[in-house]
Amino acid sequence: MKEKRIRVFYRAEMCPPLLGEGSESKSPLKPKLLLEFIEKQGLLPHFRLEEHFLPFANEEFYLAHTQTYVDGFFEGREPYASGDGLLGIDWSRDYAESTRYTNASLYQAIRASVDFPETLCLSPTSGFHHAVPERGALFCAFSGQVIAAVKLYRESGLSGAFIDLDGHFGNSIDDSRTFVKDLERAVPKGCNINIKTKHGVYLEDLKLRLLILQELFLEEKIHYVVFCHGADSHEDDDIGHQLTTAEWLECAVLFSDFVKKTESLSGRPVPVSMALFGGYRNDDYDCVLSLHTASLMKVLNGLSGLEKEYDPVVSKNKRKSGV
Ligand SMILES: [Zn+2]
Repeated sequence: MKEKRIRVFYRAEMCPPLLGEGSESKSPLKPKLLLEFIEKQGLLPHFRLEEHFLPFANEEFYLAHTQTYVDGFFEGREPYASGDGLLGIDWSRDYAESTRYTNASLYQAIRASVDFPETLCLSPTSGFHHAVPERGALFCAFSGQVIAAVKLYRESGLSGAFIDLDGHFGNSIDDSRTFVKDLERAVPKGCNINIKTKHGVYLEDLKLRLLILQELFLEEKIHYVVFCHGADSHEDDDIGHQLTTAEWLECAVLFSDFVKKTESLSGRPVPVSMALFGGYRNDDYDCVLSLHTASLMKVLNGLSGLEKEYDPVVSKNKRKSGV
């Protein structure tokens, strides 16, 4: 059984105070908005804030990115600051500095899950999985998962898996395998899970992929898992189409069941950390926050024995863009 509170790696500096008008994503504000939402729902007592961690220095970003890109981005130089025009977030000094904290938060959450495997750890972040070694792309300035996994591998020799249920393929791990020589060991092949199908087939695919992870954990080929339950795989998301609310939540249940079963088969705790990833609703952003909250509570209930039900509010009065 895990502890009945989720340890959250959050610092106010993870969110820039203002986003530029050209920014197409609210993702940089998500950590703060999510915690405010959780508090409004009266669920904050189920979370323990962890604010004492340091931001990443440029050297940590060099683990997964070229020095030219990292230095150019933090100095605000083009084309690095805009990821060759692909980033989709207006560069500002505050935004750039916030990435030092979001990337550090993901690493810290994974690290803590390994050091304290009875504790569920959360990095309330998104905006990592499309970046490549030479630039950022699609709201992702840096490959946070690559940095975290490789840093952990080099420090502790541990390998892990990312269950990336965002609606979009997280290319950053695969696209970094040539640049980061030991990434193959930090995140073995088949351990960056992303599902492309829909509805019932999606759930079956997820079950199969989790079974493979179970084998790898039992064989000690992976040592931790990171659950990234992106809300843009939900069918009402502005750019989502894959799962109904019940199906989307079922993924969190399948994940918890997989962890419980793996722990009972191995006799060892499975270190679990979580991150948020995508989610876009121009009509009502609370729907995105509500889905994330519901998923976190499902995992917490499933793995700690807590019985605190929370039903997401996913309003249906939205108009899909272009429709
Ligand atoms: Zn996405």
